[in-house]
Amino acid sequence: MEIHEYQAKELLAGFGVAIPRGGVAYSPEQAVYRAAEIGGARWVVKAQIHSGARGKAGGVKVCSSEDEVRQAAKALLGKKLVTHQTGPEGRVVHRLYVEQAVPIARELYIGFVLDRKSQRIMIVASANGGMEIEEVAKRHPDSIVREVVEPAIGLSAFQAREIAFALGLPAAQVNRMVTVLLGCHRAFRELDATMVEINPLVLTEDTQILALDAKMAFDDNALFRRPNVAELRDYAEEDPREAQAAEYGLNYVALDGDIGCIINGAGLAMATMDMIKHAGGEPANFLDIGGGASPERVANAFKLVLSDVKVSAMLVNIFAGINRCDWVAQGVVQAARELKPRVPLVVRLAGTNVEEGRRIIRESGLPIISADTLAEAADRVVAAKQGVSA
Ligand code: GDP
Ligand code: MN
Repeated sequence: MEIHEYQAKELLAGFGVAIPRGGVAYSPEQAVYRAAEIGGARWVVKAQIHSGARGKAGGVKVCSSEDEVRQAAKALLGKKLVTHQTGPEGRVVHRLYVEQAVPIARELYIGFVLDRKSQRIMIVASANGGMEIEEVAKRHPDSIVREVVEPAIGLSAFQAREIAFALGLPAAQVNRMVTVLLGCHRAFRELDATMVEINPLVLTEDTQILALDAKMAFDDNALFRRPNVAELRDYAEEDPREAQAAEYGLNYVALDGDIGCIINGAGLAMATMDMIKHAGGEPANFLDIGGGASPERVANAFKLVLSDVKVSAMLVNIFAGINRCDWVAQGVVQAARELKPRVPLVVRLAGTNVEEGRRIIRESGLPIISADTLAEAADRVVAAKQGVSA
């Protein structure tokens, strides 16, 4: 799960990382109010979307009067911001962060990532902040400093000092840098993060070290024990179908193809997707409805798959072990009657009570295409789809 810049800053501030004064705004009036509250004569109005590279896309505006703050807020709110990380569809801006503008002397980069090869947290830092780390890696590869954290010991102060010296910080600021690095590391561990990135981390003209931008991502499987992180989830930033699936308790991942899949068991779902590809089709989704697929779960899965406009044929593939095919068949028939799918539907049932399940499908009077084997099911759904598009 990702969170917004302002949320990441608030969390990091709790671990001793210094940030500029700022506040969230949902309207131009609130933005002006925030600016007045912050004080000073210059502010930065920043679009809050789950994407970096907002600056280049016009999502970060420096303002020198309350009127400019109002205009910037008006221009950004409700606007679709297209950065090269969002893809061409962009993201609509619903929230703003208004911040005190700070005089920047130097822009640095620091990132904490999980390095799978060393199975450790790795710190990546560079004296060339303000641009994306991929770009730094290309243009200034020698400026990148890496430090691996020993999990049994944690990040030690000497490692943090080494990073500070490698970035060329003046001696007077080394301790501040150490505070920032230790704070980020503690936040990473104590909040079950998978990524912490501050870009830029700036040295101000008055020798402070401030996080001007912040990005954090978290381990979804640990959210149950981090309620204060879990509540930061912004559903507006997520694929609406994946959010809906989470609500239904279904395991759904949207894909690019056009064959909707409803399957029980992750392994069978993977195998089915392979078979669809083998038959010349492309799956529109991965969907595991789980072991005890009740008629209600089947109906919810139907709704989810059909809400994807790309879907031009559907495949239900259920292997009933603990479950019963007749029960699943009832669910399928009920869902098909209720939702009247606009696309051909192929059903393959196998396992417990399969004969009874097939009979229910056959006698339903619905235009459901049956298949006995997985290969047959994949062939039939691809053929059915082609029949539709022809
Ligand atoms: P990103 O483009 O999404 O990564 O957004 P950032 O928060 O990193 O902002 C982009 C750039 O705007 C920064 O690299 C800075 O150069 C500039 N910027 C952001 N805040 C300030 C500020 O308070 N003062 C000044 N002078 N520049 C700022
Ligand atoms: Mn940034």
